[in-house]
Amino acid sequence: AEEKAKKAAFFAPEDELVFNPDPSASFQNMNLSRPIMRGIANVGFSTPTLIQQKAIPVALLGKDVVGGAQTGSGKTAAFVIPILERLLYRPKKVASTRVLILCPTRELAIQAHSVAVKLAAYTDIKFGLAVGGLSVNVQAAELKKRPDIIIGTPGRFIDHMRNSQGFGVDTIEIVVLDEADRMLEDGFADELNEIINTIPKSRQTMLFSATMTDSVDKLIRLSLQRPVRLMVDTKKT
Ligand code: ADP
Ligand code: MG
Repeated sequence: AEEKAKKAAFFAPEDELVFNPDPSASFQNMNLSRPIMRGIANVGFSTPTLIQQKAIPVALLGKDVVGGAQTGSGKTAAFVIPILERLLYRPKKVASTRVLILCPTRELAIQAHSVAVKLAAYTDIKFGLAVGGLSVNVQAAELKKRPDIIIGTPGRFIDHMRNSQGFGVDTIEIVVLDEADRMLEDGFADELNEIINTIPKSRQTMLFSATMTDSVDKLIRLSLQRPVRLMVDTKKT
């Protein structure tokens, strides 16, 4: 019964349920720029996973996205690829942080950072990390250079938001809440709410999660606007 309740919570009426990969789907027909295609080759991906097939085109349009997909389904590249593509055409006169990616742990943030850096190998897009275990002051100095993308954990990011001189979130245009279920399980709800409420509303927000619990749903309603909801499940049960 608990399993059934979980399933029921997982799928909302407006969800697009996706079970089968489209055999004709490819990175080539997603209209991605050359440096991004080279980055994809650099990480060795030849065909998009199901969540990538669905999420990349929607994210490229600037829409809010909810992506429900199991661990190992390729969610990182599903949001990193469209972000890099959109950043390629940013004005470059003044450095400014446009993207915030939040992950539940330092390890997951560093993992996402390493994939993103490889995907961005043929671009001039710059990254910053906001995770624990590194000196706050050294990190603050890095973040002051306004990297295009900051990847971090909610705890450390909020620390910078509150305490680091000259650190602002007003230029952030895209927010990703990665592994949202885990961030909530780990007790980051208050931090997420504060961060989300401080970043301008005109942003694009994407939320990815392996499970859709009530608290994830609440976070979706709080932070996303008219999201396209993609629920990917390769197990046909
Ligand atoms: P999730 O966040 O959904 O758990 P990840 O983004 O961490 O999944 O990806 C899981 C694994 O799948 C990683 O090792 C990644 O390199 C690999 N992967 C992701 N997308 C592709 C792809 N299109 N082709 C081949 N491997 C991929
Ligand atoms: Mg992940």
